[in-house]
Amino acid sequence: MDLHILGAEGGELFGYKPASFLFQEDLLIDAGSICSTLRLEALLQIEHVFLSHTHLDHIKDLGLLADLLTGLHSKPLKIYGTADVLKTLREHYFNNKIWPDFTQIPPPPMMPVLELVELEPMVTVHLPGDRSVLPIPVHHTVPTCAFLVMWPGHSFLYSADTGPTDLLWQVANQRDDLRGLILDVAFPIRMQMIANLAKHLTPQTAKEELRKLKRDIPIYYFHLKPAFYQEMVDEMAQILPGMGTILRSGQELWLGSGPA
Ligand SMILES: [Zn+2]
Ligand SMILES: [Zn+2]
Repeated sequence: MDLHILGAEGGELFGYKPASFLFQEDLLIDAGSICSTLRLEALLQIEHVFLSHTHLDHIKDLGLLADLLTGLHSKPLKIYGTADVLKTLREHYFNNKIWPDFTQIPPPPMMPVLELVELEPMVTVHLPGDRSVLPIPVHHTVPTCAFLVMWPGHSFLYSADTGPTDLLWQVANQRDDLRGLILDVAFPIRMQMIANLAKHLTPQTAKEELRKLKRDIPIYYFHLKPAFYQEMVDEMAQILPGMGTILRSGQELWLGSGPA
């Protein structure tokens, strides 16, 4: 299994965890649920953390992770985000008030726990192991990027949090090697107005968005709000029949990057 779904939901409640996806052992996408889902040995293997945006459900565990790693780390953990994301992290999270600035801890000559690495939208970042990640701007209430994760012969797309958008689908339609798409569906249809304001999808707008996809690939839904979970499951069975599966926290997927 190469994709471990540490957190698949759009909030936290007993049995539900916010967004975190661990690809292979070392590449983490979003940081909503790390410390309560992995053992220390597994945490120590994470080397790259890609943040789609700065909403709490996507960065919540980053500070606790930095704290856990202090003194155990052999090199800085790389945190990737656009300039907006990194600025917000510096000013509002690792600001020595909410939490210490782990990009300066421990002090020289020791290596800090975290290193912030700036992403440019639509510019591919190359990683060890023949892997690369393309940040794709999507439409949410704060600057947000989807991620296309690529490795030889295959790729997958993570939409992050988004309302209706276009570039994501353009990229999806250009990839012959796409193994799956993880798509935001956050609110039930009766809350369409809230979903529009919060720039998320409902099963109805997800269905409309999926008409932009011109290829037959597995669709995996994430970010269902725990308070409306069963209502949404029932609604999605009606509105999106045969059009994908809902991810659950703790689930593992095989996207074909190594042994099953
Ligand atoms: Zn968000
Ligand atoms: Zn979110």
